[in-house]
Amino acid sequence: MCTITKDMKHFKSNELEYFNTSTEKWYDLGDGTTKIRVKPRETQLDLQIEVARKTSINIVTCGDCGSTLLHRQADETITCPDCGFSSEPCDFPDLNY
Ligand SMILES: [Zn+2]
Repeated sequence: MCTITKDMKHFKSNELEYFNTSTEKWYDLGDGTTKIRVKPRETQLDLQIEVARKTSINIVTCGDCGSTLLHRQADETITCPDCGFSSEPCDFPDLNY
């Protein structure tokens, strides 16, 4: 069992990670650890990158009306479902970057 310090008590165990001094890396479970910290929160960009990697679908914004839309990375032309603007992927910037 790991000892969780007072100020860490309001976090769930899966929100914390532990520093292993022999490998000098942070792990979900502690063993031979000296440090404990709250896991860095995932950013919107982290999640967007995970979606893109797993699905090959990008989350972008329309270069004309600004709506958020999804498209497959293989698409050579994207058409905005809201305003009908149709162009190359470079005219649809990523939602987060
Ligand atoms: Zn649009």
